[in-house]
Amino acid sequence: MTNRTTAITNIGTLVTNDPTLGEGPLGQIHNAALVIENDKIAWAGPTTKAPAADTTHDAAGRAVIPGFVDSHSHLVFAGDRTAEFNARMSGQSYSAGGIRTTVAATRAATDEALEANLKHHLAEALRQGTTTFETKSGYGLTVQDEERALRIAAAHTDEVTYLGAHIVSPDYADDPAAYVELVTGEMLDACAPHARWVDVFCEKGAFDGDQARAILTAGKAKGLLPRMHANQLSYGPGVQLAVELDAASADHCTHLTDADVDALANGNTVATLLPGAEFSTRAEWPNARRLLDAGATVALSTDCNPGSSFTSSVPFCIALAVRDMGMTPDEALWSATAGGAKALRRTDVGYLSPGARADLTFLNAPSHVHFAYRPGVPLVSEVWRRGVRNG
Ligand SMILES: [Zn+2]
Repeated sequence: MTNRTTAITNIGTLVTNDPTLGEGPLGQIHNAALVIENDKIAWAGPTTKAPAADTTHDAAGRAVIPGFVDSHSHLVFAGDRTAEFNARMSGQSYSAGGIRTTVAATRAATDEALEANLKHHLAEALRQGTTTFETKSGYGLTVQDEERALRIAAAHTDEVTYLGAHIVSPDYADDPAAYVELVTGEMLDACAPHARWVDVFCEKGAFDGDQARAILTAGKAKGLLPRMHANQLSYGPGVQLAVELDAASADHCTHLTDADVDALANGNTVATLLPGAEFSTRAEWPNARRLLDAGATVALSTDCNPGSSFTSSVPFCIALAVRDMGMTPDEALWSATAGGAKALRRTDVGYLSPGARADLTFLNAPSHVHFAYRPGVPLVSEVWRRGVRNG
């Protein structure tokens, strides 16, 4: 194969997330250029020093950032929960039980319908700058339906998560222990070949600490890596259990004790914050500032799902994080790119220094600060994935 190089020149502000290449923790370079060789970054620096390349693409002063790494979504589903959202915004509170509505619709859907819906939402995310995404099962809750969801997801991403333990299946409402047995036995055996991760919703009304430990431990024994929905709706054992089991990520982290924050600051588990969920349930925001000040690693993600956070927009989550969660624009951008990569234990995405995958998002703005400064405005003008321009 002959190597093809492309120079991207005249970048207003380039975020590399490599502090050795530029200013601050984001490694920002002004009037920058990038050289892509095949699907990887070969060079990054000032435009005036850019080496020659086969072709040149003029960024015309736009900002370029690493493509977003959305490390938490639930995109294999069918159905619609507009009515539930409307009722909630009219005064009703959210509980985990609404998931059952989506389970019924997902079970009834054809493979083709589920895949078409997944592709629709992935295309929507890509247009908004997301180049790496994770997605989960969790709306099937039978051996066959969970296996099918993961098979469909695996055709579109490597970051596939087995979430048979989303809620106790309605079929096992009278015998949750038997459902945990299924999730850690026959269902796990069927699902493990299609997934990289195992997850559990550790929450009142879903799974308690002992059940969560059993589910993640069984998944690890089958070669899956753990992550966890933890401390979303109430205080509980989830976060500390996630750190103890070396989960890559504890997701939500809305209700944290000082001991939870200490555990995250001293462990290898990323705190993934999902403000779309608090927005869509009118709930208390997670306190990003407290986590960052303690030294925890924070990721920002959409939690895109039809019930509690139906947004595929990482820029929207960044704006919320800056406005309401105490993050600076730089911290929020880092968390949505490099932070997401850490939450997926990936070293090839989330940054733009030599060797990284050439996943780039161009902004119709001079810098990423505009995500919060101009909230809701479609700033993403162009997205490249693996060195190829997508639009
Ligand atoms: Zn979730």
